[in-house]
Amino acid sequence: MRGDEEGRRWEGLADEAAALRAVGLWRELRRVEGRDGGSLELEGRTVAGFASNDYLGLAEAPEVVAALKEGIDIWGAGAGASRLVCGTFAPHEELEAVLARAKGVEGALVFGSGFAVPMGVIPALVGPGDTVILDKLSHACLVDAAKLSGATLRVFPHNHLEKLERLLATAKGRVLVVTESVFSMDGDRAVLREMVELKERYGAWLLVDEAHAFGVVGPGGRGLVAELGLEGRVELQMGTLSKAVGLSGGYVAGRREVMEWLINRARSFIYSTAVPPFLAHAARVAVELMLGEEGERRRVRLRENVALFQRLMGLEEAVFSSAIVPVIVGGERAAVAMSERLRAAGYWIPAIRYPTVARGAARLRVTLTALHEAVEIEGLAAGFGQAMAELGGGEFAEEAAG
Ligand SMILES: *Cc1c(COP(=O)(O)O)cnc(C)c1O
Repeated sequence: MRGDEEGRRWEGLADEAAALRAVGLWRELRRVEGRDGGSLELEGRTVAGFASNDYLGLAEAPEVVAALKEGIDIWGAGAGASRLVCGTFAPHEELEAVLARAKGVEGALVFGSGFAVPMGVIPALVGPGDTVILDKLSHACLVDAAKLSGATLRVFPHNHLEKLERLLATAKGRVLVVTESVFSMDGDRAVLREMVELKERYGAWLLVDEAHAFGVVGPGGRGLVAELGLEGRVELQMGTLSKAVGLSGGYVAGRREVMEWLINRARSFIYSTAVPPFLAHAARVAVELMLGEEGERRRVRLRENVALFQRLMGLEEAVFSSAIVPVIVGGERAAVAMSERLRAAGYWIPAIRYPTVARGAARLRVTLTALHEAVEIEGLAAGFGQAMAELGGGEFAEEAAG
């Protein structure tokens, strides 16, 4: 009987899981057995990956791999404690100095992941009685962190300045505006200059998440805030070390006194073991690589690859905004079917579905990297054409249209 009882305790979940499967929203992990320059060995076959956020290919760069080994030789493995206990090592401070310089501000603070950054930062700055105003397309970690803070949550439609202004005009307490600079699922950019002007007019603070811009956009890949020369006017810039930097971790950057406040109040910083010092060492090397000539060479390749894919997909007019080019399919099941066709043809792009994006806005989020070869991009575009033709009959077209 114990077994049955056990089973019944999970029954509700099994029903919910079945419901998710039925509408094409069930998610599964796929195991990668090996990788080489953007190619993946996935479930017994080699596929060209077009889903990674390793936009510059630094995750496999010899300089970064060598820096990891060197870091381990010098510092060993884990940090052993949180930063405040006895876990602040020289490589942490060196990395933060390089990040602060890259972001054009006084200081930076490194966290265990990009996700952990707003979870610590937002509740450290605002609370009940205050207001957080978010762009509708902001990443889950920004939304979760805003909720955690206890501040009143207000959302404006993507890049909708009039609505943002109305929310600013009626906001209570301390006001924090939050946006991504390059949007993770759409690849477009925030109207940042206008947002900065608005938040200044209303005396609000601004947090810009540069997760998909860092390494890709702006001089030296320093991000959109740097491209627009807004470094002194954005209170907080954040980003990750896990995307174009090719490693793992997150950071926030801003005024020194704010960084000192966060050391005292950001719980995901205080109560979490420090990033391993070898990782901080390698991240500093990777960020310097990203900022320098090698990074620029890779950004040129990346931009060429994005332009080629856009041209082949009939998006000639599109300007370069990021490494992300979403192909919107619409229906969730149609997107999964499209992804499967492309996988069979040798290209791996998982379907991005609700709740990551809105219902009925499922997509294949294609990301280009500096490592892609023109033939792979041509093959992918042809694969899209073929998959659309094969699936283009009744069901797919209807679902896509609906
Ligand atoms: C990926 C991502 C994060 C989280 O970064 P991790 O280092 O992967 O935890 C935060 N914000 C945005 C916009 C992201 O895309």
